[in-house]
Amino acid sequence: MPALKLENVYKSFGSVDVLKDINLTVEDGEFVVFVGPSGCGKSTLLRVIAGLEDATKGSVFIAGEQVNDTPPSRRGIAMVFQSYALYPHLSVKANMSLGLKQEKQPKDLIETRVQKASEILSLNDYLDRHPAELSGGQRQRVAIGRAIVREPKLFLFDEPLSNLDAALRMNTRIEIAELHRTLSASMVYVTHDQTEAMTLADKIVVLRDGRIEQVGSPMELYNNPANKFVAGFLGSPA
Ligand code: ADP
Ligand code: MG
Repeated sequence: MPALKLENVYKSFGSVDVLKDINLTVEDGEFVVFVGPSGCGKSTLLRVIAGLEDATKGSVFIAGEQVNDTPPSRRGIAMVFQSYALYPHLSVKANMSLGLKQEKQPKDLIETRVQKASEILSLNDYLDRHPAELSGGQRQRVAIGRAIVREPKLFLFDEPLSNLDAALRMNTRIEIAELHRTLSASMVYVTHDQTEAMTLADKIVVLRDGRIEQVGSPMELYNNPANKFVAGFLGSPA
C-alpha cells in the first residue's frame, strides 16, 4: 500500500490557483523530494498533505485511507519546518515531549520515545537546555526529534536545512539520510537545493507554477529531463 496518494488535487486561494491537478504516489519507505522555484506551490502541497490546508478539489490518501476530512493530528504524519518552530520557554526535552503529551500518551512511553530520539540525534546532553542555548543545527535536530517521537508513517520536511550554514547543512543532510534508513519511514522533502534533491531522493518531483512538470529518479531526470526547465533545475547539461 502506498504511503501517500494524491488524486487530482487542486488548491486555490480566492481566485488564485496554486496547485493544479496534482497526481502522485509515494510508495511505502520511499524518499520523495519536491523541487521547484520559489512560489511554485511546494509548501502549499505539503500543507495540503498535512491537513493544514484543505484541498479545493481532489483526494489525499495516507496509507490507503482518504484523509481529506481528517485533522492533522490524526493523519499519522509529522512535519519539520524551516523555522524549527520550537517553544523558547520549554526545554529540549519538553519541546520533544509536547506532541505526545497533547495526545495524552503515558509518561513512560513519552520517556522511552524521547530517549530513543535523542540518542538517534545525539541530543542526550542537551535535554535540559532551552532553544536559545543551542546552535542552529542543534535546534533543527530538536525539531526533527519532535517529529521522530510521534513515530509517524510519513515525515514531511519543508526546506529543513535552509537556515543552516554550508557545513552544518551537509552534516544534517547525511543525518536525515541515515534517519530514513534507520526508521524505514516514508519521507516527503521540499528543497530548492539541487544537491539535497540528487543525494536524498529515491524520486524527484519537479513542480512549476502549481503543476507537476516531471517525476523520476535523480538519474532519470538528470539524463532525460523533459525540457530545459527541468534540466536547469537538476544541473543537467543543456
Ligand atoms: P513555495 O513553497 O514553492 O515557495 P508556496 O506554496 O509557499 O510556494 O506558495 C505558492 C503560491 O501560493 C504563492 O504565490 C503564494 O503567494 C500563494 N499562497 C500560499 N499560501 C497562501 C495563502 N494562505 N493565501 C494566499 N496565497 C497563498
Ligand atoms: Mg515554501
